[in-house]
Amino acid sequence: MIDLGVLKGSSFAVLGLARSGLATVRALSAAGIDCIAWDDNAASREAADAIGARLVEPAKIDWSKIDALVISPGIPNRLPKPHPVAAAARSAGTPLICDVELLARVRKAARFVAVTGTNGKSTTTALIGHILQSAGLACEIGGNIGRGALDLAPLGADGIYVLELSSYQLELLQTFHAHVAVWLNITPDHIDRHGDMAGYVAAKAHIFDRQQAGDCAVIGVDDDYSRAMREAVDSFPGVTVVPVALDRPIAGGVSFRAGMLVDADGYTVDFADVPTLPGAHNAQNAACAWATCRWLGVPREAIVEGLRSYPGLPHRQERVAAIGKVVYVNDSKATNADATARALSSYRDIYWILGGQAKEGGVAPLAPYFDRVRHAFLIGEAADLFARQLEGKLGYSRCGDLKSALDAAHERSQREAGDGSTAIVLLSPACASWDQWKSYEHRGDAFRAMARALPGAESLGRAA
Ligand code: ADP
Repeated sequence: MIDLGVLKGSSFAVLGLARSGLATVRALSAAGIDCIAWDDNAASREAADAIGARLVEPAKIDWSKIDALVISPGIPNRLPKPHPVAAAARSAGTPLICDVELLARVRKAARFVAVTGTNGKSTTTALIGHILQSAGLACEIGGNIGRGALDLAPLGADGIYVLELSSYQLELLQTFHAHVAVWLNITPDHIDRHGDMAGYVAAKAHIFDRQQAGDCAVIGVDDDYSRAMREAVDSFPGVTVVPVALDRPIAGGVSFRAGMLVDADGYTVDFADVPTLPGAHNAQNAACAWATCRWLGVPREAIVEGLRSYPGLPHRQERVAAIGKVVYVNDSKATNADATARALSSYRDIYWILGGQAKEGGVAPLAPYFDRVRHAFLIGEAADLFARQLEGKLGYSRCGDLKSALDAAHERSQREAGDGSTAIVLLSPACASWDQWKSYEHRGDAFRAMARALPGAESLGRAA
């Protein structure tokens, strides 16, 4: 836990008592700092009560006594409609901040790597952290992934915090300063919270706030918004911009071409055989991680070692088991067609398990990838819609639930993959999970356990 003792004398209100809010209350209370707390949800209030939070009804908050409102980034504070507590704080002139801002205020000696982008944040954050830790550096990984900022261990001048930061968190920073800011990509997202694309990009752009001479900005430049951002950051005095591009050389940057990572000095790394980072999207993540770790002084050999030993994150194209030539892959986090497209484009000879609660458009946009799929196995509510969308284009079976789909995909892949080539049984549902599961994690955990329990299965990757 982070010691917030140096903030003694200040008072805070904490709104939103889930993971990061509870950690904030714990850290403030442990340091003896005055703090009041609220959550609209009674169960969350009870959890906070259990750790000794002082719950105060919103209408009774005296904002003149509060230095800052630490608001959970998930709670709207402007659009589509500000939460009443956020609105009250703002009209009283009380600043809105998040837990990452508190971390930055008290761990000033440490260095910060911040990672943002529409897609690939968690993977790139975990990968950078893994490479730094494997290279023996003192490093803590958190923010929007894993542990909340104030649950991390205290680090000093030789330490590096690697933080995944969402647009919501970035808007709530006041003094935070990224020594390395990693910007992966931008596609339309979260427009409800930011009003329009310009608002979304502006929120993300806060990752570069307060960067100064000697800092580094790693910027993926494969979309128009990100190219414009690169041009803007290029004019920051003394900040080194390292651009990252796929499929083309890029001066002074890192690129990925024909299965090879190529860095600014022309050093190349064969990336084709890193099974935990499949697909071009992961090449972008790896190239950004490469640029970051080089900037931090990690020797190239150690980065290669770290890339090769990266265990991957659960539920994102996670290799969970192998039986003979067939590998079983859990991509339960793919809850829309776009995410599933990344997985389908990464493999061939796929036995594809899909379905659940369909998103708008279903799987129609995935038609360009159907030639990579040997057979589809439909589950959940979306089965009728998906059957219509696959009709005449791709062979499919209706399986009802995940267990039946896995059994059918297993049986068929083992029978057909006898020709010696590798095949993939892929759970990449392109659907939300809520018709049959509590969450995508619940669905993915079940798939992993079922795949590992198949006769002859050898477990791959992480234990749980
Ligand atoms: P985030 O934390 O930004 O949601 P993750 O690393 O958890 O990103 O990856 C989630 C999904 O996003 C992956 O399963 C994959 O489908 C897709 N993805 C990952 N990296 C990228 C990338 N660099 N570009 C586009 N899509 C990506």
